[in-house]
Amino acid sequence: MPEQQPQQMSQEQIKALQEKIKQMSPEELKEFQKKQCIFCQIISGKVQSQKVYEDDDVVAVLDVNPANPGHILIMPKEHYSIMPQIPDDEIGHIFMVAKALSNTSLRALEVQGSNIIVANGVAAGQRAQHFMVHLIPRKENDNINFQIPQKTIPEEELQKVRRALSESMGAKAEEAEEKMAAVPIIPKQKKVVEAEFKEPIKKKLSKKREIKKKTKKQKEKKSGSEDKKSGGSINLDDIAGVLGAK
Ligand SMILES: [Zn+2]
Repeated sequence: MPEQQPQQMSQEQIKALQEKIKQMSPEELKEFQKKQCIFCQIISGKVQSQKVYEDDDVVAVLDVNPANPGHILIMPKEHYSIMPQIPDDEIGHIFMVAKALSNTSLRALEVQGSNIIVANGVAAGQRAQHFMVHLIPRKENDNINFQIPQKTIPEEELQKVRRALSESMGAKAEEAEEKMAAVPIIPKQKKVVEAEFKEPIKKKLSKKREIKKKTKKQKEKKSGSEDKKSGGSINLDDIAGVLGAK
C-alpha cells in the first residue's frame, strides 16, 4: 500500500497548525491541502513519478511501494481529500479509467485479476491526503489477503440498516464530508520505481470526456453559473513556514 507517514513536528508546531486550520474557510483549506499534498506535486510534475495514464482530469501512476507489481494509483488532478467532494462526472470518469487500466494490466502483466480499492476516510484506513483509487493486479497465491468478514446478522438488523439508508438517500454530500472530517496529512517525498506501460486507452477515454465536457459547458451557459473558485486571503507561505516546508 502506498500512503504516507507524517513528518516529525514539535507539539507546539502541531498546535499552531491545528489552530490555523480551524480558522480557514473551505476554500482556504483546500488551497492549503493542495500546497501540502505530495500527490498534487506528482500530478504537476514537481515530484517525479512513473505515469501510466494522463488526460485533462486524471493521472495514474505506479505505486512506489506496490502491493503487487503494477499497483496503480488513479487520481483526479484536482485536489480532493475524500470522495464526497468529487463531482459525479469526475468520479465516473476516474472509475472508467480504473476499468480501462484494469483491462490493460490483465493483458500486459500476465495477471488473472485485479482489486480496485478506495480507502475513503481515516476510519477506512485512508492515509493519503489526496483521493485515489488503488488498482492492484492479482495472481493466484500472491500472498495478498483481502478477506472480507462474513458476520451473521438478524433479519431485523438488516431491515433497520436498509431503512436508515433509504431514508437518508436524499441527504447532501456535504453531510458525509463533515462526518468524515478530512484532516490534512503532512506529505513526505517518495522514491520512484521504474516500469513500462503503454497508453492505448487514452484516446478513447478522452473522446468520451470531451463529449461530456461540451454538454456540461452548454448547460452552464444556459444556467449562467458562476465560477465558484475564490482566492483565500490567508498567507499560505506563513503556514508552510510553520510546517517547516520553507
Ligand atoms: Zn492533492
